[in-house]
Amino acid sequence: MKHLTLLFVLISLSISAQKKTKPATTLSKPKLVLGIMVDQMRYDYLYRYYDKYTEGGFKRLMNEGFNCKNNHYHYASTITGPGHAAVYTGSVPAVNGIVGNEWYDPLANRTVYVAEDTTVRAVGAGEAGVEGKRSPVNMHTTTITDQLKIASEFRSKVIGIAVKDRGGILPAGHSADAAYWFDAKSGNWITSTYYMNDLPQWVKDFNAQKMPDKLMAQKWETLLPIEKYTESEADNQEYENVLSGEKLPVFPHTVANYGALLTSPYGNTITKEITLATLKNEKMGQGKETDFLCVSFSTPDYVGHATGTHSIEIEDTYLRLDRDIAEVLSKLDATIGKGNYLVFLTADHGVTDIAGFLKKHKIPAGTIEMGKEVSYLNGEMAAKFGEGKWIKAQDNYQLYLDHELMAKKNVTMNQVYELVKEKMLILGSSVYQIINLHDINSANVPPYYKPLIENIYNPKRSGDIMILFEPAWYSGSKKGTTHGTMWQSDRHVPLVWYGWKIPQGETVEQTYIADIAATLAALLNVLEPNGCVGSPIKDIFSKK
Ligand code: ZN
Ligand code: ZN
Repeated sequence: MKHLTLLFVLISLSISAQKKTKPATTLSKPKLVLGIMVDQMRYDYLYRYYDKYTEGGFKRLMNEGFNCKNNHYHYASTITGPGHAAVYTGSVPAVNGIVGNEWYDPLANRTVYVAEDTTVRAVGAGEAGVEGKRSPVNMHTTTITDQLKIASEFRSKVIGIAVKDRGGILPAGHSADAAYWFDAKSGNWITSTYYMNDLPQWVKDFNAQKMPDKLMAQKWETLLPIEKYTESEADNQEYENVLSGEKLPVFPHTVANYGALLTSPYGNTITKEITLATLKNEKMGQGKETDFLCVSFSTPDYVGHATGTHSIEIEDTYLRLDRDIAEVLSKLDATIGKGNYLVFLTADHGVTDIAGFLKKHKIPAGTIEMGKEVSYLNGEMAAKFGEGKWIKAQDNYQLYLDHELMAKKNVTMNQVYELVKEKMLILGSSVYQIINLHDINSANVPPYYKPLIENIYNPKRSGDIMILFEPAWYSGSKKGTTHGTMWQSDRHVPLVWYGWKIPQGETVEQTYIADIAATLAALLNVLEPNGCVGSPIKDIFSKK
């Protein structure tokens, strides 16, 4: 009997040993990573239009993949350049240097653009186009795409695509094979000499199809009958912008020029089409190494700014984008195979509801004009400290002071700060707090918010004083809306994972944008980007 028991134990042990999976002799890798960014996609868009999404787009990612429902930006300047840089560097503006879409450069004594590079020139724009002096040189740290390149001896292919240059360039990183963006003058997809001296033949052929012109010949009608747009307000609202060449902000819209094309779902159509063409012609995901395609859909941002978060225009844009994403995924199934590719979807920032819309429903909100605030403050400074242009520039709610003038007139940083506080922080104003960016530690804001401000301060590129307005207040016109603040509507964005090694599930644990690059690094077994401040999202790994 004893022997029998022992035999049974031995057999069980051997069975359980066999059941254990043998350690892999070679590392498993996905064929392709597809990073999808949706410009200005706030978290709630996943759910507000859920019932109208198809099974193959957002719903497929959410229900078959892993949904991080509580995912936020971890810094205060929620703008396109910083957002794209943060996702791929896993870092913050303070460290990666991407503090805005533009910032004042004291050495050059001018405002510089995030993706500008005067040493390169446009490729493919023809005579009509000038936009092209673009590269990622202003970004100080590596991206996850750079790290993949380094780990594969630069054999992995990395390409960035977006209508907006910064949306394609920053994600693709420093060592990318290519980034392509849309030149609204020539109507061509272009690149710069940073990447190549001539467009690949397939891009020339793609441009020669004149797809934008064909799309412009159509009107923008709603995808569904207009009465079905019950997640939106009635079509004609006084706080919606009138689109280019039109008289009223109502359907059907004419698409008057290439610029207007980008403020219509056709901007996503051309992005989807060049994505499919890139996958095919560059044979992405068909080599030995993992390739990485970074796609950013810029159009939701253009439409969102123009007509806001409760417009039929934005609802229609998302319903159509859902179908575009479904098409890309089913193409990947057919070419690379389900389970062989890894997808993540997120956004570069959220958006605030139109102030006029909120006010109509008695919710506190409003608009201010930073230009006016700056000239008022300049006048107050001149009155107190003497004549001069004390504020040299204003960007991202930050004031850049004239330090030479301050030294000459013996005016200290603290004196200026106290004056700005005295003039701006008065009862009944829309200002929440004034921050001395040289002394964020002493800022009198709740501990939750302090890191959001610390994470944007870069000593070479940030301003001196930051003006924080109250929630739902923003600088801009009374028509349309924007983003760029540290409040939740601008910081809460979707994060959905799908495909290779991704379990099905969801979490409401706090995740941050910087965790994306850290998670990718852990999944791909490569080093995280050199300025990464995030951590791998544990739930994605523990549920396997
Ligand atoms: Zn954006
Ligand atoms: Zn925007």
